[in-house]
Amino acid sequence: MPGARSKPPMCRKRRRAANVTNDAISNPNDAPNVTPNAAPNAALPPGATIGILGGGQLGRMAALAATALGYRCHVFSPDADAPAKEVSAAQTTAPYEDRDAARAFAAAVDVVTFEFENVPDETLAVIAEGAPVRPGVDALHISQDRAIEKTFLGDNEIGTAPWAPIITAADLDPAAATGFPAILKTARFGYDGKGQVRVDTADDLAAAWAEINQVPAVLEGFVDFEREISVIVARGTGGETRSYVPVDNVHRDHILFTTTAPSTIDATIAEAAQAIADRIAGALNLVGLLAVEMFVTHDGDILVNEIAPRPHNSGHWTMDACAVSQFEQFIRAVSGLPLGDPARHSDAVMTNLIGDEADQWLEFLNEDGACLRLYGKTESRPGRKMGHVNRLSPMVRPAP
Ligand code: AMP
Repeated sequence: MPGARSKPPMCRKRRRAANVTNDAISNPNDAPNVTPNAAPNAALPPGATIGILGGGQLGRMAALAATALGYRCHVFSPDADAPAKEVSAAQTTAPYEDRDAARAFAAAVDVVTFEFENVPDETLAVIAEGAPVRPGVDALHISQDRAIEKTFLGDNEIGTAPWAPIITAADLDPAAATGFPAILKTARFGYDGKGQVRVDTADDLAAAWAEINQVPAVLEGFVDFEREISVIVARGTGGETRSYVPVDNVHRDHILFTTTAPSTIDATIAEAAQAIADRIAGALNLVGLLAVEMFVTHDGDILVNEIAPRPHNSGHWTMDACAVSQFEQFIRAVSGLPLGDPARHSDAVMTNLIGDEADQWLEFLNEDGACLRLYGKTESRPGRKMGHVNRLSPMVRPAP
């Protein structure tokens, strides 16, 4: 990056960030009085600080990729032991609702991004006043809520499972027109099958809604899919996009179990899936990374299940099978750098290590062609993602 070393304008907050510790930033007056970035689309030079909201494994791997490009990372999360904090230069430990801490955080970094999208609106607004927010406040709002997300997809003529919103009891009867079997999902805060109840008949709907505490929800028709695929696309500050090849995803107990790259699906469906991801990223005006999970029906139709404006578990294979991983691509996009080449040099199967499966770490290390990644989580619980293994093999089909 030309001229990056001599006091780059986007690094001006650096000194303050270095003073931040593991403790919560409690006094907003500690924050320097800086204005938001004057040239938001300029490439962030090495030495600048990337703020990451959320401290899980996605943030950890993003911080490692950022560090490799010469950036510093400042992680904000309520959890003092968050995996991303172990590998970052600065940390804020405070609840996501703590606006003073959020304000100080934004003032201490050059750009803010997210590995976790369920940040309260008020916090987002405070952060957006102090630093550029990428992927962007609108993209975060849309992906935080399944009803808003599906409405947005419908408005953009992108297919989804049939669905209906449920906000009050009066919505139950009309929602039943969606058909059964169906899945009732909480509109917000659901992941890995949490907040989801299968509903087999209209008579079961009220009880299912009671099971999720009658919170706002969506009722989704059950899709008899042929397979599940996903596409990860990066979109840069100038609107340019580059996507990874579609991959096949297999879930076990609603949690991603394996990702196979590339998907063995027909080339025309693969191209259509990439085009859908591209369109969604453009419609969101997103800067960063977008993961699009899709169902492919037996007729070859593509229905979008879910979108996430950040790195995604189904992109972990790129860490070992591509020259530029999803995490580096994410950092490149949010930093205004040129996007990297998403082509793969190997085929790969990623297997998540859930709960005590990570205890076999030594066996994976003894296996040729297996790349082990552990997330540094101290406590193993059933259903908790502890790490993953990427198993590489020579490419069978040429990279598209
Ligand atoms: P989600 O949290 O919405 O990504 O759902 C987790 C997993 O549950 C998906 O990857 C699918 O395997 C399954 N699933 C979710 N929604 C549906 C649906 N409408 N029809 C069939 N399977 C679904």
